[in-house]
Amino acid sequence: MSAYDYDLFVIGAGSGGVRAARLAAASGARVAVAEEYRIGGTCVIRGCVPKKFMVYASECAEQFEVARGFGWSIGETNFNWRAFIDAKDIEISRLSGIYASNLAKAGAELIQAKARFTDAHTLELVGLNRSVTADKILIATGGRPKAPTGLPGVEYAISSNEAFHLPRLPKSIVVVGGGYIAVEFACIFHGLGVDTTLVYRGPNILRGFDEDVRVHLCDELHKRGLKVRLSSVHDRIEKTPDGLVSYFSDGGAITSDEVMFATGREPYVQGLGLEAAGVMMDAAGAVVVDDWSRTNVENIWAVGDVTNRINLTPVAIREGAAFAETEFYERPTRFDHADVATAVFSQPQVACVGLSETDARKALGEVDIYLTRFRPMKTIFVGHEDRVLMKLVVERASQKVVGVHIVGPESAEIIQMAAIAVKAGLTKAQWDATCAVHPSLAEELVTLKDLYRPPILATAR
Ligand code: NDP
Repeated sequence: MSAYDYDLFVIGAGSGGVRAARLAAASGARVAVAEEYRIGGTCVIRGCVPKKFMVYASECAEQFEVARGFGWSIGETNFNWRAFIDAKDIEISRLSGIYASNLAKAGAELIQAKARFTDAHTLELVGLNRSVTADKILIATGGRPKAPTGLPGVEYAISSNEAFHLPRLPKSIVVVGGGYIAVEFACIFHGLGVDTTLVYRGPNILRGFDEDVRVHLCDELHKRGLKVRLSSVHDRIEKTPDGLVSYFSDGGAITSDEVMFATGREPYVQGLGLEAAGVMMDAAGAVVVDDWSRTNVENIWAVGDVTNRINLTPVAIREGAAFAETEFYERPTRFDHADVATAVFSQPQVACVGLSETDARKALGEVDIYLTRFRPMKTIFVGHEDRVLMKLVVERASQKVVGVHIVGPESAEIIQMAAIAVKAGLTKAQWDATCAVHPSLAEELVTLKDLYRPPILATAR
């Protein structure tokens, strides 16, 4: 019997922490999890899940329009924000309850408190007037939205946290940022009929994604009437009787009901007392871990966004599972962070796995590119101009498909399957040997025959 109160103490009941705690407890270990907020973490409470409900709600407007094009008569439609938020909150509470009951079923104790290190094996449970000791400790506290500091008026702006609970749907909004959250929320608000402007400081949104994807998505957003203001930086925000006025450094200004900053997230380590335990952090405040998610302190591990590796729910889950397999089942397991598929739930969706063309050229040298842009049969029927993009990046020497990039409906669903083939290292010829499903969007991925030659653009002399 160990001299500690617990064999494992997990800080944070989000995706990574809960998975690790459940697996460890199921092995017979004495496990506790501390959570200072709601059970489920960012993904369930104020991230992926409620966001996806908002995406579904906002897509309905286009679906009504398409339905009319297919002969349906649809009367006047209107959207009740309050009714939606109430229904969303009920579902989120249900899911949070499932997380809590799964922990209990596995035999893990849930402690509703913030935990703070006082040394490498001891945690103070803030507000409970109690300290606990544990043999192993797992930090799984996730991340928090980060707004620029020092920007005058930034206190009037909301983050994604508040966007899930706005008392009313704004008539207009300025969404700042060019990453996942900014692009997704700009599309959500635009779809719900809010006059939306996406403001990004760089030349094009979704930095780090394949260049063809970035250009294609931006074009599609423009076609749908979403205003995208590029190379634009806030100078200040002022509150006036007409709303919030965003002043930009180029002299322009936009008045809106709300301003939302989606300018990145940071590891949530405040108040954790990492210094007391001697746990090392990097310059961004992320807990530094090795391939086994172990920190520099022998009995302390960290998984998920607090480690700032790949900040995605399924990755945190796999990191948590690998930790538990290694430490509680004697099955040494490292999560392989290569070829993790991802999707941006914009409208249209973006999904990709593997390398962008630029990264593939850098890493592998010569590559073959297969690319198609086409109008999907569903919306061409109703006269829409939207186009799908599908792109394969193939390493020339080995003919392995090393990158798949899609902009279009259901691309998140498609990429999940494509990711199996990329992870397995299948060649273009093996993709081509797979018979198409017709008529579908995804069939294009196995019928791309001709090498793509980008149009030669006239250059200025
Ligand atoms: P991202 O890192 O994706 O994007 C942050 C954006 O904010 C970038 O466009 C960045 O610009 C911009 N930015 C940063 N600082 C400033 C500043 N001071 N002023 C103006 N703009 C600024 O972060 P998100 O917050 O969108 O998302 C966080 C993470 O959460 C993602 O990286 C992803 O891992 C995860 N996530 C995943 C989702 C999914 O899977 N669908 C959905 C939501 C989040 P620049 O590019 O120039 O640096």
